[in-house]
Amino acid sequence: MICEFCGGQTAKKKVKRQHWLHRRLYIIENVEAEVCSECGERYFHAKILDGIDSLLKSTHTVKEKLEVEVVLLQQHFQCRGNVLKKKQFLYLKRKKSNDN
Ligand SMILES: [Zn+2]
Repeated sequence: MICEFCGGQTAKKKVKRQHWLHRRLYIIENVEAEVCSECGERYFHAKILDGIDSLLKSTHTVKEKLEVEVVLLQQHFQCRGNVLKKKQFLYLKRKKSNDN
């Protein structure tokens, strides 16, 4: 498919997804997604997301438990939308997608 953000071409990939359900955060591995080769944006099929919800609501195997820190980013670290140039934004997105 074509990326809605940058017009790049996407490809099917298995990725790691942060998934919230009933105020709890889960890390789901091996999730099929369409990933943009240009900006790294990820698209998930609604059926896949519903499938994850159903899996989490029923009895499932937990591979690993993690402790997660919640950190508030102070105002002076944040970029105002118009200050962040498009190139930097794309770089950040790509960096994010490489973490998977
Ligand atoms: Zn894109």
